[in-house]
Amino acid sequence: MDKDNLWSNILDKIKSELNSLAYDTWFSETEIYKLDNGVAKIIVPYGIHKQHIMNNYKDLIVKYLYEETNNNYEIELLLKEEIEEEESPQLIENFENEESKEVYQISNNLLPKYTFDNFVVGNSNRFAHAAALAVAEDPGRIYNPLFIYGNSGLGKTHLMHAIGNYIVQHSNKKVLYITSEQFVNDFVSSNRKDDSGSNFNYVEFFKQKYRTIDVLIIDDIQFLGGATETQKEFFHTFNTLYEGNKQIIISSDSSPDDLKRLEDRLKTRFGWGLAVDIFPPDLELRTAIIRRKIIGEEITKPIPEEVIEYMASTISGDIRNLEGALTRLIAYSATWSTDITLPLAEEALKDYVNKGLISEKNDVARIQKIVSDYFQISVDDLRGKKRSANIAFPRQIAMYLCRKLTDESFPKIGIEFGGKDHSTVMHSCDKIEKEMKNNKELAKTIDKLEKEIH
Ligand code: ADP
Ligand code: MG
Repeated sequence: MDKDNLWSNILDKIKSELNSLAYDTWFSETEIYKLDNGVAKIIVPYGIHKQHIMNNYKDLIVKYLYEETNNNYEIELLLKEEIEEEESPQLIENFENEESKEVYQISNNLLPKYTFDNFVVGNSNRFAHAAALAVAEDPGRIYNPLFIYGNSGLGKTHLMHAIGNYIVQHSNKKVLYITSEQFVNDFVSSNRKDDSGSNFNYVEFFKQKYRTIDVLIIDDIQFLGGATETQKEFFHTFNTLYEGNKQIIISSDSSPDDLKRLEDRLKTRFGWGLAVDIFPPDLELRTAIIRRKIIGEEITKPIPEEVIEYMASTISGDIRNLEGALTRLIAYSATWSTDITLPLAEEALKDYVNKGLISEKNDVARIQKIVSDYFQISVDDLRGKKRSANIAFPRQIAMYLCRKLTDESFPKIGIEFGGKDHSTVMHSCDKIEKEMKNNKELAKTIDKLEKEIH
């Protein structure tokens, strides 16, 4: 049994003993990192989990670990950041100890919790999701490399693991997920010398590791920047894989063209396949994600509709924030043993406001509301697909105003209008601008709306 199965068995047992709120709050986001010299290292999301679990559930974990493995383990709880520090050239050591080629067996580093099934699709990530699924179904054939980019917390890593997990489940292909920092570390350690002063074995190992896989998933490529030797090695690795029709999947915080510290020849290659961007979730997707997380994590305390609306409309930006807010709300209501209500949510999420993670107003949404009110149509219609003039015209006006009064790009505005293409937004803005010149009435209306928005 592998460690993830082991942990999931243990979680099932724990789940049957705790009420679901306690389970969700304290265990749903735990993972096992490794069993090491009699110590079970378990990853928890926040510092508060460490203390609470140690005080309340340690014996339970030890008991079930014993039931599953017949061994007594000490428990150590770690945060994700802490294991990243702990991690180092362990793979190389394996290689030193063993003789047969079998040791080239490397861990794929995939996290089973990130799948296509639990990835919620909306206007802002629809394209990226479709491209990811296409690659997962037919790796190395259609989009190579697949380059996914966007700001942090929008689901790039989730999608990449989902691709990897899908491929592993549906084929015999060898997948390797790695962050570009791990790649750099691996490369640096492959360059160290062994006792006889030669580094041959390590270099061989490095090459084997990266060049014999079928799918290379490399996350956050922007961190490859700077170290030119490493870029050179990555370039060779890329070429070998590419020429062998092996799938390469890359993520980054910016588009290939905007990657500042990367060699031109690498950027060019990244452009050979398909580059897709992920945008911040719109209101609809934020709402869907909150609902999905509530169901997925089997949170049994009812979360009233107005709380969901409050969270979706005030916590803008990225999805990691949304998850953090939800976890926080649940922990808060558990601590105070109260129902989840709007005042409780406002209180619990105060820190998010202070940290500036909540936007007090979402400009696009506000403009949509003001324009819909003015023309007496619903916001849904304004954002929707209906083409009748009494709706399409206000929609064009609203798009024009969004473009003029916010910093949002054409694609982003398109997303906020139910996933319309950026060319539609551009066309609307042009049209309104031209018409205002000849139509005094329209110019007046727009002026009035602008005043109301400010
Ligand atoms: P990134 O790599 O872009 O910084 P992540 O993939 O780490 O972002 O996503 C941050 C968190 O948000 C993760 O817990 C992820 O599962 C969750 N998440 C992101 N997008 C979605 C989505 N569309 N549906 C469900 N969860 C999502
Ligand atoms: Mg990421």
